[in-house]
Amino acid sequence: MKEDYTPTIGLEIHAELNTNTKMFCKCKNDPHQKKPNVNICPVCMAHPGTLPVINKQAVKHVLKVGKATGGKLAMDFTEFDRKNYFYPDIPKGYQISQYKYPLVSGGSLVGVDVTRIHLEEDTARSQHDDAGHSFVDFNRGGLPLMELVTEPVIDSAEIAGKFARELQLLLRYLGASEANMEKGQMRVEANISVSKTKKFGTKVEVKNLNSFKSVERAIEHEIVRQIEVLESGGEIVQETRGWDENKQETFSQRKKESSDEYRYFPDPDLPKLVIKEIEDMQEDVLEKEFPELPWEKRARYKKDYDLKDEDNDAFVQDTKLAGFFEDMAENLDNDKELIKTGVNYLASDLVSLIKAKGWKDENITPVYFADIIKLVNDKKLSSRGAKDLIIVTYNEGMLSNDPEKDAEVKGLLQKSDEGELKKIVEKILKEHASVVDDYKNGKESALQFLVGQGMKATKGSANPQILKKLFEEATKGS
Ligand code: ADP
Ligand code: ZN
Ligand code: MG
Repeated sequence: MKEDYTPTIGLEIHAELNTNTKMFCKCKNDPHQKKPNVNICPVCMAHPGTLPVINKQAVKHVLKVGKATGGKLAMDFTEFDRKNYFYPDIPKGYQISQYKYPLVSGGSLVGVDVTRIHLEEDTARSQHDDAGHSFVDFNRGGLPLMELVTEPVIDSAEIAGKFARELQLLLRYLGASEANMEKGQMRVEANISVSKTKKFGTKVEVKNLNSFKSVERAIEHEIVRQIEVLESGGEIVQETRGWDENKQETFSQRKKESSDEYRYFPDPDLPKLVIKEIEDMQEDVLEKEFPELPWEKRARYKKDYDLKDEDNDAFVQDTKLAGFFEDMAENLDNDKELIKTGVNYLASDLVSLIKAKGWKDENITPVYFADIIKLVNDKKLSSRGAKDLIIVTYNEGMLSNDPEKDAEVKGLLQKSDEGELKKIVEKILKEHASVVDDYKNGKESALQFLVGQGMKATKGSANPQILKKLFEEATKGS
């Protein structure tokens, strides 16, 4: 039975780090370079007689990720090793990585234990054309690459997805990596096994996952597949599987090499690092350079504004939107009720405009946006009017610094002028005599209809409360 099995998942996540130059040479670290083999030099092309030099910026990024996740930083000793294997995308015949002494050991994120975080160099990019030719672009070869490995303690696709998403956020907050999965800047490999007993089952590693959704679906698929194999009397073989996005299933790629086939040994060309002797890598220095971390921001928003989780997450995800939100909140004098209204317009109206047109923050300031919310609260602007004002302002910019004035110019202010509205009410009463009779005979919904007609006639600019009052008064007397 499916229910008898417990899934176990461990993740291995690579991230290309944000640095000016490559990991061991002075070539530019430019992930946007489209022209192949531009950012190369004798060092990253493995010419004899060249020597690698450690990129300190990359080391610092990894130490910061380790510090933020509560890991133990290798202050006393850390070194780089050669991982030997032959493939066209590694010109040296080995990849420089870390084996026994990684930069970071332990730590945790979203409750998942981290085993280690180490630093290595990225491989080049292979391309194959339809005619059977293969090409190698070395622009990516030698870029600084962080690898984080988790303990096998994850028991669902959901938690695996949560871990990967939170790591992406952390990398972005720290400025360590763009961590875009679609662009391959962050790559997640999932190790999956299932077991009926306390002993772990044989694990399978799934690669080529280039979105969070694929990570989750591949894990779900693999759990079901493994249970089916075992239930039908088969055995799980330790192997690497790929993910077929079209078929939404995993497929066998190759049998897994074990680590001793890589014949790791310390790279004699590189110095051992004693981090405690490098002034700007001390733990207090690293921490001083931290921004507010994602989980800290989340907790602060929860405490200060009591936001819905969904809105809170949207702001934590997007630091620019979060900045706009905070400025708006300040201009609403941190009034919780006003902020709730503001968040509604921000999360629905402004966010859909940003999604459709990109950020045009010069067109609408948070102060102006906050003032719109105040107009809604003072019933000077209807909900429709506010939405319209946000749309035109986002597209065309603010006419002045005063949304009340602008709304008036654009005819969006709520009409509360009873004299003007009375004329409209009378006209509607004449046009809908039978509805008026219904209302007089006790049909409450008829009044809603009449108010609706009034809103329509004023293109949404009337104050519905006042309209309702006027209809009630006009039908009472007769
Ligand atoms: P290998 O030597 O095959 O690379 P590791 O012990 O280094 O294996 O683990 C690699 C990854 O696989 C880690 O993320 C680890 O948590 C995970 N892992 C190890 N054993 C299992 C298992 N039985 N089921 C699922 N994941 C596992
Ligand atoms: Zn180079
Ligand atoms: Mg391993």
